[in-house]
Amino acid sequence: MKRLCVYCGSNPGRNPYYLTAARNLGESLATRGIGLVYGGSAFGVMGAVADGITAGGGEATGIIPRDLLKKETPHNGLADLKIVDSMHDRKALMVKLSDGFAALPGGLGTLEELFEVWTWAQLGFHRKPCALLNVHSYYDPLIAFLDQAVEEGFIKAKHRAMLIVENDPEKLIAQLDSYRPPEVERWLDKESL
Ligand code: AMP
Repeated sequence: MKRLCVYCGSNPGRNPYYLTAARNLGESLATRGIGLVYGGSAFGVMGAVADGITAGGGEATGIIPRDLLKKETPHNGLADLKIVDSMHDRKALMVKLSDGFAALPGGLGTLEELFEVWTWAQLGFHRKPCALLNVHSYYDPLIAFLDQAVEEGFIKAKHRAMLIVENDPEKLIAQLDSYRPPEVERWLDKESL
């Protein structure tokens, strides 16, 4: 894996362990020579991942829509800041530049990004791994809901199994590295994304 895309909160969360976990993940990426692709912000959980990777000497690429620049401060340690026209362009570029995706604790933006990229994997638009870093059991209720959706016949077990869930950054990276995609009905042309 050359670059990992991280989706995570623009807010820091109520407890300090969210920022600590994000920083640790950033440092682990730097140690392994894996680049970070993310939304580019200097604040919240997003800023902490970027702090971790830049402190460790690794490379962070931020991707931000032009309009968001009016209210967002990009991280000052970025190796590259890509300015795009829209949120849709941002998400498409994040997917294109990355070899895997991990969601850390976050809110609506994080959930939307994770579910979109996981849906694209389910449909066969890409074969890259999707993961949740379940810091301090933050995502336990979501995981329980996903299992309920399988029970109720709305998510296939093989699609549910595509989502890697880990609470330790090192184990998360190891699982992303060893991921093998399941068989899907057919793989689609990624250019059609
Ligand atoms: P949220 O989880 O609602 O805080 O949204 C964070 C996620 O959505 C990040 O992964 C970003 O890619 C994107 N995002 C949402 N709001 C912002 C923002 N103000 N600055 C940068 N990225 C943002």
